Amino acid sequence: MKQEADVLVIGAGPAGTIAASIIHKAGYSVQIVEKMRFPRFVIGESLLPRCMEALEEAELLDAVKAKNFQRKDGAKFVMGGEICDFNFSNQYTKGWQWTWQVPRADFDKTLADECAKKGISVDYEMEVTNIEISDNGHSVTTVKDAAGNAHTIKAKFIVDGSGYGRVIPRMFGLERQSSMPPRKAVFGHFTDPKRNEAHEPNRIVIYVHNPKTWIWVIPFSTGVTSLGYVGDPEFFDQYKGTLTEQIKNLIAAEPDIADRFGGSELIWEEPKFLQSWSVTTDTFYGNGFVLTGNVTEFLDPVFSSGVTLASVSSQMAAKLVIRHLKGETIEWKSEYMEPMMKGIDVFRTYVNGWYDGSLFNIFFAQDPDKTIMSQICSVLAGYVWDETNPFVAKHEKNVRTLSNFIVAKKTMA
Ligand SMILES: Cc1cc2nc3c(=O)[nH]c(=O)nc-3n(C[C@H](O)[C@H](O)[C@H](O)COP(=O)(O)OP(=O)(O)OC[C@H]3O[C@@H](n4cnc5c(N)ncnc54)[C@H](O)[C@@H]3O)c2cc1C
Repeated sequence: MKQEADVLVIGAGPAGTIAASIIHKAGYSVQIVEKMRFPRFVIGESLLPRCMEALEEAELLDAVKAKNFQRKDGAKFVMGGEICDFNFSNQYTKGWQWTWQVPRADFDKTLADECAKKGISVDYEMEVTNIEISDNGHSVTTVKDAAGNAHTIKAKFIVDGSGYGRVIPRMFGLERQSSMPPRKAVFGHFTDPKRNEAHEPNRIVIYVHNPKTWIWVIPFSTGVTSLGYVGDPEFFDQYKGTLTEQIKNLIAAEPDIADRFGGSELIWEEPKFLQSWSVTTDTFYGNGFVLTGNVTEFLDPVFSSGVTLASVSSQMAAKLVIRHLKGETIEWKSEYMEPMMKGIDVFRTYVNGWYDGSLFNIFFAQDPDKTIMSQICSVLAGYVWDETNPFVAKHEKNVRTLSNFIVAKKTMA
């Protein structure tokens, strides 16, 4: 491990590795410190096409391609007998039309190994425990190794990509309550002998179980499928017993899922659960540091935006860090935080529209307008910075107006 680097990156998830690789490519020395030993489990398995651009710029795309992960060409939403199928090749924005679905342990290790191959120093089981930043932005960070020994790393700048660890926001008191209500997820990886490619051509499938509860089905190329339930924490209270018993009963409660996964085996010892993940921060930057990925804000898993926001924020921040190291003055608010917030706010509208039901009106409308659906498809592909798309530029107004229009048309019919 380096005792001194131009840039210290905290966390070896997609946010950390993409930032590290772009900064390293520009000729700066980078040290990544990661708390866990890889491979490690993390949730966030369905990617969006927009993240391919960040992987490409970080020169990490080929390493991921070589893994032959499950291709993802779109997203399918199912409510009762109704289906809304988005194919990314029909999207309005000119960009990537496909991506992958990945077991994250394997995906994240691929990115981190590729960083190490490029000459970036990646050290595992190194937990950041303290950071001291001087007035000039240079820092001394203390990390604790697996044996409990402390080490220090001097850096000119820090990229905090520590995800749910939220190292800098916690350490510097920047955490803020999110406006999103608390939600819970119960999930597992299952064998999937009844998988039918014809019904599910390279898709994530999202089932509406009830207006506030939905189910993800994310097939992997290994034959294993990730299955998860997301809803209000109280929804899960009706399911008693161990997590294994709970997920069995959850599977039985949705007919399509019961048909497909009723006889499947959980390949983990126990399902996992997560709760109340939405937290945000006062700022995405400060003297000598920038926050990228989940550390900034994570909204909700329904549109698989997490890894894409992590990738794009790191892509954007890394280029600013390089300019900062070259001696330029960076307007972090207008050049980083505001553009990132724009994209996050677009997703926020769609997440809110999902839970208040207005997106159900749009997704499951009779005879949907093809142009509008292609514009919404671009949002679902992660192209939430394309201001030429009316469903990005005026996201809140257009989603609300369209939903109201569809409801009014139905009432008059
Ligand atoms: C239920 C649920 C389902 C989701 N599904 C999806 C999905 O389908 N698609 C999607 O794109 N996103 C999804 N997400 C979001 C996704 O999990 C995150 O957005 C994504 O993992 C963020 O990447 P990251 O690199 O910012 O953080 P992470 O992937 O969390 O990586 C951060 C790394 O930092 C390390 N770290 C933490 N603390 C320290 C420390 N003190 N010192 C050193 N290292 C540290 C951690 O060990 C970790 O490896 C989901 C989230 C939830 C809650």
